Amino acid sequence: VSPHYRPDTALLSLGEPFYDPVVAADFPQTILRYRNDRAATQIGLDTLTDAEWIAHLARFTPLPDTLPQPLALRYHGHQFRHYNPDIGDGRGFTFAQLRDGARRLLDLGTKGSGTTPWSRFGDGRLTLKGGVREILATEMLEALNVPTSRTLSLVETGEALDRGDEPSPTRSAVLVRLSHGHIRIGTFQRLAWHRDENAMRRLVAYVLANLYDEPGDDPVRLLDLVVARTATLAARYMAAGFVHGVLNSDNINVTGESFDYGPWRFAPIWDPGFTAAYFDQTGLYAYGRQPEAIGWDVMQLASCLRLIADSDPLVAALDGFAPRFQAALAEAVPWRLGVVSVDEPAARALTRAVERALLSTQTPLDRFFFDAFGGTLPDTYGDEFAEVRALLAAAAPRRDRTHAYWSGNPCSMLIDEVEAIWSPIAEHDDWSPLHAKITAIRAMGDALA
Ligand code: AMP
Ligand code: MG
Ligand code: MG
Repeated sequence: VSPHYRPDTALLSLGEPFYDPVVAADFPQTILRYRNDRAATQIGLDTLTDAEWIAHLARFTPLPDTLPQPLALRYHGHQFRHYNPDIGDGRGFTFAQLRDGARRLLDLGTKGSGTTPWSRFGDGRLTLKGGVREILATEMLEALNVPTSRTLSLVETGEALDRGDEPSPTRSAVLVRLSHGHIRIGTFQRLAWHRDENAMRRLVAYVLANLYDEPGDDPVRLLDLVVARTATLAARYMAAGFVHGVLNSDNINVTGESFDYGPWRFAPIWDPGFTAAYFDQTGLYAYGRQPEAIGWDVMQLASCLRLIADSDPLVAALDGFAPRFQAALAEAVPWRLGVVSVDEPAARALTRAVERALLSTQTPLDRFFFDAFGGTLPDTYGDEFAEVRALLAAAAPRRDRTHAYWSGNPCSMLIDEVEAIWSPIAEHDDWSPLHAKITAIRAMGDALA
């Protein structure tokens, strides 16, 4: 047993009203498609043979000294601003908890592991393509310094699924995700709906202790922390060009760690109206509206916490969202440019100049950040970039410019590239483009870090 394997059972301390014990689907096949050994090493699971990996991460034989059986979590949520009390883990569960190197709590959660009491009309399954897309999103976001869940495992499960938006039947898979808890804003909404003050106090203490490493049960302190982390998340999405697609309150982890990847897309240009999900007809969750969307979700958390706190300090904490977003954006944009501005006002000026230039020129986003990396912009960038050029020149390089040129080209993840990775898998089970892409993404991540 690896010393990095640190099992835990903290979730059980929350007790019955938070979850339902469930049983995983019995899959006709289990074919290992992806194992994230970099993540596995950090949690002491790298020593598993492939057969053991499948037994634990696709058949869900309990891991030693953690949860005895899978638990589907209960939660509510606003979906596209409509309150829905009938959701919860409908195709996933938490089956193990571990501690990371800093002793923060980690959940091993599933997607596609079978039906639960919350499946409603759903089949509890995940498409193989959905699993491949989640691998790509998480690897890319991790490399671009966006706080995110990580994809630990993807196993194909040999079922034929019917999905309206894909050729039928389509292939199935079960995915394991690693994230710092699965406590969503929607988890709090459910307790507020039931006016369960005791459970809400327990939840506040659980989140503070296990996910923020802080003592106590002060709801205002918790809101302040959530505001800071989610404002940072919104800023990092912008700098990464990422559009999550479904920023419902049940998809917002109170740690500010991005998760639950469905119809996500990366924006080709800095286009505030760029929308990821075909069903997002009003553009509620468009690229440039993500800070507003996340802020709105956090406002729902604040109103839930009214059950156990006064409103004035909650409102004061909420007021921190916009300034914290601006501050985080003025860190995230220079970070991606590989420069350090002389001071905060200079970092803000650079960030504003970049946003203006990208907006007015429709320059490809990934290409710009690649070309400008380290602080010098090629001559091909015209007058619209004069201010950006001057502010970059006044900044110091954070990383050696040569690091940007890990392969001579920016590493992007536009929709055509996703399809080009999926097609060879669908057509002849050729997984090599996926693995090549992961290698390229990780090289970019190492160059940026
Ligand atoms: P999402 O849009 O993925 O955040 O999911 C919203 C709700 O629908 C959650 O309760 C999910 O667990 C549930 N859900 C999504 N897909 C399925 C499915 N195929 N089977 C059962 N429940 C699902
Ligand atoms: Mg979800
Ligand atoms: Mg989903």
